[in-house]
Amino acid sequence: MLLLKNVTHNRKTTDILIEGNRFAKIAPDQNIPGVAELNCRNKAILPAFYNLHSHAGMSIFRGLSDDKELFSWLNDDIWPREARLTPEMIYLASKFSILEMIKTGTVFFLDMYFEQQEVLKAAQEMGIRTISALTGLDLFDAAKTTLEKEKIEKYISYPEKDNNGRCTKGLMIHAVYSVSEDLIRYIVRRAREEGLFLTLHASETAKEVEDCRKEHGCTPIEYLDRLGALGPKTIVAHAVHLTDADIALLARKKVPLCSNPVSNYKLASGLFMLQKLQKAGCILTLGTDSMASNNNLSMLEEMKLCALSAKIQAGDATAGNAEDVFAMATRNGAQAVGLDAGIIAEGKLADCLLVDLNNHFLVPDYHLVSNMVYAADSSCIDTVICDGRILMKNHHINGEEKLIAAIKKLSTLFKN
Ligand SMILES: [Zn+2]
Repeated sequence: MLLLKNVTHNRKTTDILIEGNRFAKIAPDQNIPGVAELNCRNKAILPAFYNLHSHAGMSIFRGLSDDKELFSWLNDDIWPREARLTPEMIYLASKFSILEMIKTGTVFFLDMYFEQQEVLKAAQEMGIRTISALTGLDLFDAAKTTLEKEKIEKYISYPEKDNNGRCTKGLMIHAVYSVSEDLIRYIVRRAREEGLFLTLHASETAKEVEDCRKEHGCTPIEYLDRLGALGPKTIVAHAVHLTDADIALLARKKVPLCSNPVSNYKLASGLFMLQKLQKAGCILTLGTDSMASNNNLSMLEEMKLCALSAKIQAGDATAGNAEDVFAMATRNGAQAVGLDAGIIAEGKLADCLLVDLNNHFLVPDYHLVSNMVYAADSSCIDTVICDGRILMKNHHINGEEKLIAAIKKLSTLFKN
């Protein structure tokens, strides 16, 4: 049990009791003998962030190749280096990504890369939540398709440790331009059979949509639907270039969409149609993408850019308001991946942030959520609690110095 004493919640000072991994009681003046207390004076409690699109293992590539077009970035710089990554390197790089996520207030990440058992291990050790989705990517090479299927089966049989359900497995289809129809159908079938979440990149660039029309006579969203890939347990990342028919289909099938504004801006992919998607009733969430295309994992930056890009895209300053964007980063994300979290209320999973109300970015305090979306940086986040356990306190995580030193050393292998 943990008692958060004198914490600011909805502008009032109160005490919040965490019992096990849930918020048990929100009421002032609680005194329970023998229970650990955390003094939260001048700190406000807020929901933590749920990052629905990341590639944690790519942290080793931060700043390696910037200012390039998506396909040359992948072909010339990223894919040749990824071929040199070992499982141990992915484990270490994932831990480093998780460190940055916790420092910026994130308690869950939907991850997709290779050697995802290493990401599961890293997340379990750091105490964060994850759905770790193994990426299927065969580049239309039949020999590779067979190998990818074997890898998927091996990953499905990999045991999930008993970790209170914090870390689970998922599957990923890299994209329609990089995965054969045979492999897409296989991944969809296996995800459904195993009850796993599925995720994919789709309609990220205009070129992807154009190529798909030439190849299949339809948009990537329509093509994926034809292969049975769309549904409430399929999270579609990017979703920048959508037709009205795509939007109607995604809303009807209750497919959660994950916007990655920083990555989309950096790769000049385009603007997420937030207002239009919202009006159509789509489920909207936020993600950072990787450190190689962002170049950090801060959901705070993502929220700000998401709000700003929604306004520019719609030509309307009321689009992408702070409350809605904050919900995308918190409860919408939690709900999309089936977590009873993202809200500070009795009975909900105890995931939260304690933010420092004396931090200059949060002063004056007319509207805390607005300050978090438009003004805050990670220095405002003092404490991160996930599943009732403290992951960061006083903006420090145990072992962070050692991890940073290890990544500095590892990065020397990837300069060329
Ligand atoms: Zn991605």
